[in-house]
Amino acid sequence: MASILEFKNQDILEGSSKINSSKKINRIDHYIKNIKKTKSFYYLSRNKEFKKYSEKHLETFLSDEFLNYRKLWNEQPNNIIQNPIKYFDKKAKFNPLCVDLEVASICDLACPHCFREYVATPDKIINIEFAKQIIDQVVDMKIPSMKFNWRGEPLLFSKLPEVIDYAKSKGVIDTIINTNATNLDEKKSIEIIKSGLDHLIYSFDGGTKKTYEKMRPGRFKENKFEDVYSNIINFKKIKDKLGSPFPFTKIQMVLTEDTRKEIENFYSNFNSYVDEVTVTQYSERGGKISNLSIKVRNQIIDYFEKNNLDMDTPYMVEANGDILVSDKRKPCKQLFQRLMVTYNGKVGMCCVDWGATHNLGYLNEAGYNFRNDENKILDSVSKDKKGFELLKNIKLAKEFNSPKHEVQSLDNIWDGEELNKVRKAHLDINPEKIDICKNCENKDTYEWKKIN
Ligand code: SF4
Ligand code: SF4
Repeated sequence: MASILEFKNQDILEGSSKINSSKKINRIDHYIKNIKKTKSFYYLSRNKEFKKYSEKHLETFLSDEFLNYRKLWNEQPNNIIQNPIKYFDKKAKFNPLCVDLEVASICDLACPHCFREYVATPDKIINIEFAKQIIDQVVDMKIPSMKFNWRGEPLLFSKLPEVIDYAKSKGVIDTIINTNATNLDEKKSIEIIKSGLDHLIYSFDGGTKKTYEKMRPGRFKENKFEDVYSNIINFKKIKDKLGSPFPFTKIQMVLTEDTRKEIENFYSNFNSYVDEVTVTQYSERGGKISNLSIKVRNQIIDYFEKNNLDMDTPYMVEANGDILVSDKRKPCKQLFQRLMVTYNGKVGMCCVDWGATHNLGYLNEAGYNFRNDENKILDSVSKDKKGFELLKNIKLAKEFNSPKHEVQSLDNIWDGEELNKVRKAHLDINPEKIDICKNCENKDTYEWKKIN
């Protein structure tokens, strides 16, 4: 029997599989049902070009646009993956369906499962003029959705409501944020609701005070369960008072050894105050959370030995106990769905690539010196500054790709040589050719086989 130590260098591949969800209404149905109350409808009905159309016509137009974008979310990558020649040889044009714009890379928490605990992540916010420039490019490319966060807490950017309203006024159909809700006080709640935000996702790990405060400690001050809990409850009350069905709210908890026992509590705490309660097996922020039992490890090792598989063959344990093993990759859909933009204008190709270490190019000159901001964080840690005590294990991020120092457009980067090279490797079922994709933690880029 092989020793469990042979697993020491292998990360557990954990995907974002939803294991439980209480949906009162599907988000898509909610959007369509309340379409006349979206900020998109508000702006469309006041647009001179659309004056000649009836309300009903505008409603249908907007519903079709939204439904088409949701349909394309999977259809676009699937079609390209199934028929790459059509897209590459004939140069058929396809655009991203979402741009994730990091309005704040700073975060006020130091969650133990977050990438921020291992990778130096700058404490920065975006320049509003730059944010608007990116929105203008998104609109020119007819990209239907934008998410306004990536590595940090978006509510720490005070002008977020203005940016969301700007995006809605220009025609972005779906605007989304993930938030830890620590700063969602009454004033901010009103601003966010009035901005026209379409979808708000709370990240809240724990069904009890003890677990929550262990999973979500504050960096600059104590983060208390009661405070964040009441922010979320009050947000719902304010939404009701303003008569706004938007944003659609979802709360999600990451499954760990501690939170696993608190699923019922989590549901009962929030079910009446949000539109959807979800438990996922993995945080979008990544990180290794679960620990395998010796029994499970031995089952996996036995399987590897019997099937002559390398000890670093990817494996995954689902929440229901299913053990999955993969000896084959599959193309990554994100390459045909989205682009990620950091506060200083670096462009990444997926949510796994924390801060664009496989940098596709620059949208802003500020990105050229990205290491300066990262080094400041390391410096603050080494000087034991307040707010950096929990970040002792951070290191500089790797740099997988160093594009030329030139400012490009979003469109050029999306259709550029570098991203097309990565796409080609994936379509040839050879993502291993791309350094960052080699050990990717996104389970959706692997073919899985159940072994128990
Ligand atoms: S998981 Fe979210 S809230 Fe926690 S440290 Fe990371 S970015 Fe901040
Ligand atoms: S395979 Fe992983 S690292 Fe590569 S683009 Fe997809 S999500 Fe990103």
